[in-house]
Amino acid sequence: AHLDRIEATDDVIGSFISVTPDAALATAADVDRRRAAGEDLHPFAGVPVSLKDVVVTAGIRTTAGSKMLEDWVPPYDSTVYAKIKDAGLPVLGKTNMDEFAMGSTTEHSAFGPTRNPWDTTTVPGGSSGGAATSAAAYQAPLAVGTDTGGSVRQPAAFTGTVGVKPTYGSVSRYGIVAMASSLDQVGPLGRTVADAAALHQLLAGHDPRDSTSLSDAVPDFLAAVQAGARDGSLKGKRLGTIRQLSADDYDDGVRAAFTQALELAQQAGAEIVEVDMPSLRYALDAYYLIMPSEASSNLARYDGMRFGLRVEPESGPVTAETVMSATRAAGFGAEVKRRILLGTYALSAGYYDAYYGSAQKVRTLVQRDLAAAFEKADVLVSPTAPTTALPFGMESDDDPMALYLGDAATIPANLAGIPGMSLPAGLANGMPVGFQLLAPAREDARLYEVGSAIE
Ligand code: GLN
Repeated sequence: AHLDRIEATDDVIGSFISVTPDAALATAADVDRRRAAGEDLHPFAGVPVSLKDVVVTAGIRTTAGSKMLEDWVPPYDSTVYAKIKDAGLPVLGKTNMDEFAMGSTTEHSAFGPTRNPWDTTTVPGGSSGGAATSAAAYQAPLAVGTDTGGSVRQPAAFTGTVGVKPTYGSVSRYGIVAMASSLDQVGPLGRTVADAAALHQLLAGHDPRDSTSLSDAVPDFLAAVQAGARDGSLKGKRLGTIRQLSADDYDDGVRAAFTQALELAQQAGAEIVEVDMPSLRYALDAYYLIMPSEASSNLARYDGMRFGLRVEPESGPVTAETVMSATRAAGFGAEVKRRILLGTYALSAGYYDAYYGSAQKVRTLVQRDLAAAFEKADVLVSPTAPTTALPFGMESDDDPMALYLGDAATIPANLAGIPGMSLPAGLANGMPVGFQLLAPAREDARLYEVGSAIE
């Protein structure tokens, strides 16, 4: 049914870079056979899932939305894909995204646009745009995305879905095409808080192949969803609004929907407190230094020799350097080049302390501010994004800063490594508004408890 739905709708929506019907049907048949034979299967065996095209899948092309990897068929599996296969979830295909996860609209994909099913003249958000639309358009019940600076939560907000960025280190990054390694996290998307919890449960857990993987036991997220769904579960819960995310930063419709959701939570017994985050005004600047710095280093591997695309110079000698230069000129899009330049500059001798060093100090301040805020509040709340889904064409404007500013509410979670969730909070002019919850590190279950109470 999901494959039929993809077939019927994906010409317009464009969620997928690759659809993998044969593999999906083979897994489904295998699950049916094993179930008929009385085997003890994973509870979600047979539930289909889509994977953002940064999740490395042996034998299935993995592009990261880039021409650089257009024909790259990986020889190994990411841990996330291995877990999904082991549990018997059929993979429907690989979803569209901004090139190397850099962007907020999915317009930076080398494989064409993804349209928001709520209004196909608007973008789905990004960079996990195809992941979000695959869930929103009922093409897939569950979708795997990645969030380096909001890339699961913001597209969830734009498409009326639920998206979660787990605590840094709680889901393996082994075999996830790297953007900024100290910020990247894999996260689940679904149409309900319980669906996101179910997928999260499957994805999380220690992985010796990821040096930043936490060794914690995985909490019971579905139990947290159930606890939150009980009457009175919001009683006494302290929801903290952030003073420095001022109301003027939001569109009227977004502000109204957020305020209404907050009032409903208050009527249900939640206490609304205001917390201070003085470092917030520098957080965005720090992110847009740290992220390109790490990305410029991670993307150095695309040299025309080891991975994917290889382009030889049109004239002159064919050397390692000229091949690298011709390959990178042809293979990377404009936004990726912009960030490599920014990152290389920020890391260069003489500037390193002033830029990267200062940004790392801001990161510590953000962590401290958040720790202090969580003394006063159980979760922090804000609109996920300042607007609803934007029309196409913002990325081609000459002002990339305008889009960067939209990440103000989401990036502190990545800088501090804490978990965050975006869930739908009504509509503004017929378009979904996202409500963000943030919790302290390792308290991802709190998001599910409060999220299911608010949902
Ligand atoms: N908008 C953010 C950026 O462009 C999102 C990145 C991400 O989370 N992958 O950097």
